[in-house]
Amino acid sequence: MTVELAEQDIFDLVVIGGGINGAGIARDASGRGLKVLLCEKDDFAGHTSSASTKLIHGGLRYLENYHFGLVKHSLREREILLKNSPHIIWPLRFVLPHDRSLRSKWLIRTGLFIYDSLAPMHRLEKSSQVKLQQHAAGEALKSQYQHGFAYSDCWVQDSRLVILNVVAAEAFGACVLNRTRCTDLKREENYWWVTLDRHGDRSMLNGVCRIRARAVVNATGAWVGSMARDFHQNDSQQQVQLIRGSHIVVQKLFDHPYAFLFQTMDRRVVFCIPYERDFTLIGTTEMSWDRSNDQGEISDAEIEYLCQAVNRYLETTVHPDDVVWTFSGVRTLCGDDGTQVSRLSRDYTLRHDDSLAPIVSVFGGKITTYRLLAEDVLEHFRTLEGFNRPKWTHDGLLPGGDIGSNDVREYASLLSTQYSWITPDLASHYACHYGTNAHCILKNSAKFGDLGKEFSSNFFQAEVDYLIEHEYASFAEDIIWRRTRHGIRMSPDQISDLRRYMDSVLDFSGNSRVALNAGICS
Ligand SMILES: Cc1cc2nc3c(=O)[nH]c(=O)nc-3n(C[C@H](O)[C@H](O)[C@H](O)COP(=O)(O)OP(=O)(O)OC[C@H]3O[C@@H](n4cnc5c(N)ncnc54)[C@H](O)[C@@H]3O)c2cc1C
Repeated sequence: MTVELAEQDIFDLVVIGGGINGAGIARDASGRGLKVLLCEKDDFAGHTSSASTKLIHGGLRYLENYHFGLVKHSLREREILLKNSPHIIWPLRFVLPHDRSLRSKWLIRTGLFIYDSLAPMHRLEKSSQVKLQQHAAGEALKSQYQHGFAYSDCWVQDSRLVILNVVAAEAFGACVLNRTRCTDLKREENYWWVTLDRHGDRSMLNGVCRIRARAVVNATGAWVGSMARDFHQNDSQQQVQLIRGSHIVVQKLFDHPYAFLFQTMDRRVVFCIPYERDFTLIGTTEMSWDRSNDQGEISDAEIEYLCQAVNRYLETTVHPDDVVWTFSGVRTLCGDDGTQVSRLSRDYTLRHDDSLAPIVSVFGGKITTYRLLAEDVLEHFRTLEGFNRPKWTHDGLLPGGDIGSNDVREYASLLSTQYSWITPDLASHYACHYGTNAHCILKNSAKFGDLGKEFSSNFFQAEVDYLIEHEYASFAEDIIWRRTRHGIRMSPDQISDLRRYMDSVLDFSGNSRVALNAGICS
């Protein structure tokens, strides 16, 4: 989409930062009829919001720190998000093997009882004790682990959650700009002057422009503190710790659909989760992050730590050489340097001022709480004219979420019936990424050949065209690491091939040069 901005443009709200929090706020505000601009300096979901463990969860471990309020509202959100995004969020059952040398059975049983009690369980199975020798998950474990516990949480396609919030915001009329950095903020009476630097190198509209905003949200994740310090709120800084967390991905370690929660010797926990059908995701670590001397990537020591954590439990041995991909993200945790990281709350804090042109800064938070956070942010602007419209996202489906079922597998079967020529794997991929918008990719095709070039297994040109047309993708990396995770299966040659294709269809302005096979989507 081509967007031209001018100094006379006045937005009700400018949201800086296109991670899950910024995207969620932009969607909520534009759905209330406000004139909204969302800017992201890189690609949407380009940072922590695509590097999470991908769980919509209360956080069983947070109970140990007595963070009952956070767990309770997260579990409530879990139910709401599951209902509104059934194509990209689904139930995941966890198995926690009991290790006699670590937490006692009594402690775990009590924790799970509280976890279940705090949750409005409409759809998820309650926790239970399991005999591992008689349980499908038990086979992958060392024989000394005989007892365990099973409990429920949810999986989320994290970066897709961000993109779908951005798509929804734009559908409500928001101006959404990726690769656009906010470089300056100045308050002038009732307005903020917001300077935007558009630097996406495909854009002819590259350059700097200024617009005005009646209110601003600083949702810049790990940058929130520096942004606040540089441009506003000098006297209301929040003490934070920036903590880098990393994951490793290896070829699939087990065949069952359960995820494991493993306790570690340092009293942390490590998740071991079935991932992208053929892989297993293992994480996380927690390291203090200093932007000046940390590239934000996992270290060898962390890889070793994660391998050891799973090797303690699994029959198979995982070596650092088995790692096929790693990713890292940075959490902003509210608290001073003296507090132990595992004890810091994962909840969010909003800092705001009540001047005529107000600003709210978002510190911390979880993906799980993004919808609630957006409501809270807008509550702070209630006194501004036009901002006091009712909340609505509690019942708002995300784009593609109208799959008519609570089970995305049923929707994948329906797609297989409607398009009898596609394979079950491809139907499942489209269902779990696009929900009912899968029709936009498929509707002009009657056979595989109609989907165009195949870049890698189950990855066709029709999907690329759709993502360029409807989801702001302008580089191969946008598509293979954030709109999808096809990258994990692609060779360097296949990625180069995709780059060449995108160069050929995108002109310098980031607009498509040719009619793409993506159809019109409403
Ligand atoms: C390892 C790890 C695992 C996690 N796992 C989970 C989990 O399983 N479940 C869960 O609920 N939560 C999880 N979280 C927490 C969750 O991922 C984060 O709370 C959430 O992604 C933060 O979103 P955000 O929008 O605040 O930040 P970000 O995703 O970092 O987005 C901020 C954006 O602002 C942009 N930006 C910065 N400065 C500017 C500027 N000047 N102009 C324009 N844009 C700018 C950045 O480029 C960035 O994209 C995890 C976090 C980590 C680190």
